[in-house]
Amino acid sequence: LALTAEQRERYARNLLIPGFGEAGQERLAGASVCVVGLGGLGSPAAFYLAAAGIGTLGLVDSDVVELSNLQRQVLHDTDRVGMAKVTSAVQSLAALNPDVRLRPHDERLTRDNAGALLADYDAVIEACDNFESKFLINDVCLEQRKPFATAGILALSGHALFVVPGQSPCLRCVTPSVPQGEPTTSDFGVLGVVPGMLGSLEAFEVIRWLAGLWQPGADGAGALHSVDGGTVRLKTVKIPRRRGCPCAGLWSDAQ
Ligand SMILES: [Zn+2]
Repeated sequence: LALTAEQRERYARNLLIPGFGEAGQERLAGASVCVVGLGGLGSPAAFYLAAAGIGTLGLVDSDVVELSNLQRQVLHDTDRVGMAKVTSAVQSLAALNPDVRLRPHDERLTRDNAGALLADYDAVIEACDNFESKFLINDVCLEQRKPFATAGILALSGHALFVVPGQSPCLRCVTPSVPQGEPTTSDFGVLGVVPGMLGSLEAFEVIRWLAGLWQPGADGAGALHSVDGGTVRLKTVKIPRRRGCPCAGLWSDAQ
């Protein structure tokens, strides 16, 4: 997987990062990441993963581009209203970086297909707009011991969590079961820059893990990153492992 002269130029600013170098770039080139949801969170995540030189990107979405998506879903553009989001995403990402192998999955992630669909990938970006899919991805990634980033957004606020099963707390450590009756962006909207920040943060965590720059927290604690748009405050809350969580059996000190 030695870099070509052209790749050395394309990724010059990656290669200069202390602790990253050619080894980090080659790790990214050999890696595969599945982005589930090609909307507000998936757009920046997929763009930055492709730009960084991830070898293979899976792209999962069954929707078509709508005019009301374009205020935040920057993978897509006005000419593509009515086009399948996976097709639009492939066009945008191939134009950005032809090095990346793109695997479109024009389907909705379900309990029946999630295991087989995610099995091929080294890591997952959860970029869905509903709690059922977020918890489904959590559970499948725990089963497959696969790292994943998850995020939620509403109005002017959002949060993100990166999970390495057995090394950091999972979504069910934070929220044990699927919340019911919570408002969504269909109720209170969302400013496009909010998923822009949180989706970028998801890509950041996954790239750091793939490049070998990620470290588990002390005592296995995780970090929930939050953006509060009311004050434009960014904060990180320490998340402990939860006793009795489905992820508990994956820890090396599991009893
Ligand atoms: Zn857990």
